[in-house]
Amino acid sequence: MSAEKPLDPATIAARAAGAVDTGHGGVVPGVQPTTTFRRDESYALQSGGSYGRDHNANVAQAEEVLRQLEGAAQTRLFPSGMAAVAALFRTLPDGARVVMQSGIYWGVLAWVRKFCARRNIRLEEIDAADPLAIRKALVEKADLVWIEVPSNPWLKVADIAAIAKLTHDSGGLLAVDGTAATPVLTRALDFGADISMHSATKAINGHTDVLAGVLSCRDADSEVWQAICADRMEAGAILGAFEAWLLMRGMRTLPLRMERMCRSAQMLAEALDAHDRVELVRYPGLPEHPAHVLARAQMKGGFGYLMSVLVKGGTEEALAVAGRLQLIHRATSLGGVESLVEHRATIEPHTGIPGNLLRLSVGIEDPGDLLADLDQALRG
Ligand code: PLP
Repeated sequence: MSAEKPLDPATIAARAAGAVDTGHGGVVPGVQPTTTFRRDESYALQSGGSYGRDHNANVAQAEEVLRQLEGAAQTRLFPSGMAAVAALFRTLPDGARVVMQSGIYWGVLAWVRKFCARRNIRLEEIDAADPLAIRKALVEKADLVWIEVPSNPWLKVADIAAIAKLTHDSGGLLAVDGTAATPVLTRALDFGADISMHSATKAINGHTDVLAGVLSCRDADSEVWQAICADRMEAGAILGAFEAWLLMRGMRTLPLRMERMCRSAQMLAEALDAHDRVELVRYPGLPEHPAHVLARAQMKGGFGYLMSVLVKGGTEEALAVAGRLQLIHRATSLGGVESLVEHRATIEPHTGIPGNLLRLSVGIEDPGDLLADLDQALRG
């Protein structure tokens, strides 16, 4: 095989980036739960690690799959998406300035607001999908710019390359939460981001049975990356071996699942957009989405599995539609093989989320079955 041609993501994922069971000749690596490592008679370590907080084989294997998918210099896993977010923010000095996209995943916003208040960090929340707003915010240096592409649940699409340039001109770093895209659709580092973050709890694992988060960098020698790695080891936000093993098994089908989920989501978005009980569908794959052209350039192979459907009526009507669904689970989260629906205003009241908005995470079920379920629920 030619050394120059990089492997396709489907090949990297299916082969778990080449990880095999070296001890027993198995095709699949085993779970290695050891928390400590033996030394020989001269007290030299017998393998790469000395303690489970700085080394675990399953974690390292799963990180390598993600590193290759992301095109990153280095990748680190964390026990949840929020733990990954926190690891990055903890690198900020007191008194720093952060520019953050507004209307993103509420859990990130809520934690970052509290963290910044505690640490005397200036936080500005702006609509990063609005080029004027971001230009204005970055006239002054921002130590860190945080965007979520596409955003959850508004499905806004910010211009990663343009924001990376403005951020770097201001002297700061850009971090992108690409949870709703996964590295299969969008490799944020390729567009100039410094740090790429994902909640691997979502489509990266895809089976709704692992909590995990991931950070990847373009420059492994950078101060921020060195601080993140040191903090993970010293503060101990380590993913368990079994979770890492499960995650790697889930990732073997990530590109395949994304292909199916994107195709189904596109079909459903178009059908729902034309439905007489639907007011509006927010999905980057629809031509009327305000950033459809940008999304086409930033997303490879589809527009993701996440959409927001604004039904005709208000909270009552939306909850009634959700209540009538028979196949699609009423549950929070996204990116799993099973489709989920969520009434976001119930979860985050008083944040401006319309009462008639239902967020839909499209799984790998037959899209015709999903559409039939949505249609009967909408018709009542
Ligand atoms: N970022 C986004 C976009 C999310 O949707 C979520 C969770 O829903 C997170 C981060 C946090 O990830 P986790 O739940 O794995 O901590």
